[in-house]
Amino acid sequence: MICLGIESTAHTFGVGIADEKGNILSDEKDTYKSKEGWGIIPIESAEHHREVADSLIQKALAAASLEMKDIDLISFSQGPGLAPCLYAGLNKTMELSRNFSIPYIGVNHCVAHIEIGKIYAEQKDPVVVFTSGANTQIISFNNGRYRIFGETMDVGLGNALDKFGRSAGIGFPAGPKIEELGRSGKWIELPYVVKGMDLSFSGIVTEASKRLEKGCRLEDVCFSIQESMFSMVTEVTERAIAHLGKEEVMLTGGVAANRFLQEKLRIMSEERKARFSACPMKLAGDNGAMIAWTGILAHKSGYKSEKGKILPRWRADDMEISWMK
Ligand code: ATP
Repeated sequence: MICLGIESTAHTFGVGIADEKGNILSDEKDTYKSKEGWGIIPIESAEHHREVADSLIQKALAAASLEMKDIDLISFSQGPGLAPCLYAGLNKTMELSRNFSIPYIGVNHCVAHIEIGKIYAEQKDPVVVFTSGANTQIISFNNGRYRIFGETMDVGLGNALDKFGRSAGIGFPAGPKIEELGRSGKWIELPYVVKGMDLSFSGIVTEASKRLEKGCRLEDVCFSIQESMFSMVTEVTERAIAHLGKEEVMLTGGVAANRFLQEKLRIMSEERKARFSACPMKLAGDNGAMIAWTGILAHKSGYKSEKGKILPRWRADDMEISWMK
């Protein structure tokens, strides 16, 4: 079975093709950037997705040396995400499905991050640290679902860093720049907000921006904002491993690129005798291949998605994981 997957939840439009062994036959993407370089304007991002969709589909097919007639299934990111962007993916999926008489299936974006990570970070049953622009969740499989054991109570870690980046005038996305600047920074006191298993980043961003206004070095604030936020994520992950007795920790999502975060999780995992690995960067951010692969898993296990619908607030733990025992 060969599946073409379409990702369109936020600023990336991705088209990936996967086979039923999890081989990625192609993976193409294009990312919307707002004119001023300041974050996502949903309507503009959706317009971008509509503009690039056909050429990316052609590019993905060509890279895999396939034609539409070779595709057995189309899968798309049904949620969570920005409604206008999700509609761009759904509409293109339904158009292809109709024109080429290929069945389609909707899959959960967060679950797709986990499934592609499990193959390419070589993990079986990890505690997953999924941290991207909009999401930050500590997730693990338990009793038929990917259960969310801890999560942000406000913004995702990536968006928090981007928000700080905006106030510091370092552009968007700010994560990589903050990582670079933080390398030559020193610790200054910033809030640390873990409540039970949940996290809160907004207050830290506000405080970090105030520190900057009061004259603290940008490098020191960049070091400290990461130190504080990443330690919080590591604390919750450690508690999840301890409670669940799991032996693997997997990092994925766009923020997985951060070496500092990787190192913190690696050290903690080693101390707990758990095996840490990060999803390879090519597949850690939003991509179509993860949607294609999860589409195959879901379809083969008999999962039926809701037709003609987007699910902007669909949580990972709302999707039945029918392919895992
Ligand atoms: P979602 O997957 O939740 O829809 P998204 O599409 O915004 O959100 P991704 O493409 O997975 O997310 O990741 C983008 C985020 O990752 C941005 O917020 C960016 O700042 C952050 N990021 C990228 N590289 C780094 C880095 N080296 N350090 C920290 N953050 C980073």
